[in-house]
Amino acid sequence: NDYPFENDVDLPSPTELKKHYDVVIIGGGGHGVATAYYLAKYHGITNVAILEKGYLGGGNTARNTAVIRSNYLTSEGVKFYKESVDMFKGLSNEFDFNIMYSSRGQLTLAHTDSTIRSFRQRTEVNTHFGGKTELIDPQQIKELVPTLNMNPADMPVLAGLWHIDGATARHDAVAWGYAKGATQRGVELHQLTEVTDVIVENGKATGVKTNRGTVSCGCIVQAVAGHSSIVAAMAGIKMPITTYPLQAMVTQPVKPFLDPLVSSSALHCYVQQTGRGEIVFGGGSDPYPLYNTRSTLDLKESLLASAVEMFPFMANLKLMRQWAGITDMTSDYSPIMGLSPVENYYLDAGWGTWGFKSTPICGKSMAELVASGGKVPELIAPFAMDRFDEFRQVNEMGATAASH
Ligand code: FAD
Repeated sequence: NDYPFENDVDLPSPTELKKHYDVVIIGGGGHGVATAYYLAKYHGITNVAILEKGYLGGGNTARNTAVIRSNYLTSEGVKFYKESVDMFKGLSNEFDFNIMYSSRGQLTLAHTDSTIRSFRQRTEVNTHFGGKTELIDPQQIKELVPTLNMNPADMPVLAGLWHIDGATARHDAVAWGYAKGATQRGVELHQLTEVTDVIVENGKATGVKTNRGTVSCGCIVQAVAGHSSIVAAMAGIKMPITTYPLQAMVTQPVKPFLDPLVSSSALHCYVQQTGRGEIVFGGGSDPYPLYNTRSTLDLKESLLASAVEMFPFMANLKLMRQWAGITDMTSDYSPIMGLSPVENYYLDAGWGTWGFKSTPICGKSMAELVASGGKVPELIAPFAMDRFDEFRQVNEMGATAASH
């Protein structure tokens, strides 16, 4: 029996939707359930409904490549992601449920002098905030990853950004762990419950309409990843987001040979081996905006061409699966978190290709925001939506690219 819960008490399923909740969370992905968990655990707020149109963690939480890291570029970004990485380390114990956290380090390759300069900057910023990141030379890279081609696509590997804190975790288990902890404390998780409209009265969010009826509430948290613009529009909010598909793929399992996660922005490719031996490949978003989760031959060919340049022996492996998620990209590659133009309507959005690693800290920060009645925690203040009106972007493009 692969079902992760031993009995119904582990994940009690509610039947009827109540007429009123103190908090409605739209979206039962990692971010939504983590927010509910910390609301219940730290703030004693349990009259909470998570409304999920599909099934628990079936959105991007199920589709990501599980990279966890904090080696970003800006001080705002590094501080935020570092706290998330630290929280991940304790989650299995906290949940009493194994999230398969695997600390293996992440290596990003530099093929040009300008990339080395930006790696130096990232090393300094990361070290300043307590992260473990070093600039390493080709000899050290060869020792870490003996199977790597040091001249892929005729672009010699000149240096590497070695992020010792880089890790992975079982993405589904993170959602399940949070959901278990939240529902055991009294939160209701309603799957197959789609929010179809948001009720706004005198500039204030007061409830939602769903395919199962109308619910009134004290406040709303929107945590719907690739559907942020669509759901926010129901509340009359226009989001500075463009939405692209993002694909990934995985091979048959092979013997363990690759400990670190290895990525090259110049080749638009990252490669990692799972605990089961499969090789996971990911890259950049699709080249045009679209709401669709189809896989394409184009992406498969271009991504695998780069992967084979990095690890030539992989040309003989068989691909088992390819899939996609829908990702909401902001122009500065940072999230949109906090208040919205509608009172009592809180945003956790703009998570693009990088939001799995932030699941714990998002949940904790959004819970703090809700529990305080709208006082924005300092850690997420830089990610306010109005930064786009005031030219206060938190530019993480150089540290996101194909590393996720
Ligand atoms: P989701 O898990 O998508 O949850 C949102 C939920 O909202 C969904 O379940 C959806 O069904 C629900 N919903 C939507 N509309 C409604 C509605 N109207 N009513 C009710 N429910 C609704 N991030 C990393 O940090 N590391 C990575 O390695 C990484 N790799 C990625 C690889 C791929 C291929 C993809 C697609 C993404 C990747 N990401 C990665 C990004 C990461 O997956 C997301 O940022 C993160 O999962 C967002 O979590 P979430 O809980 O906000 O969203």
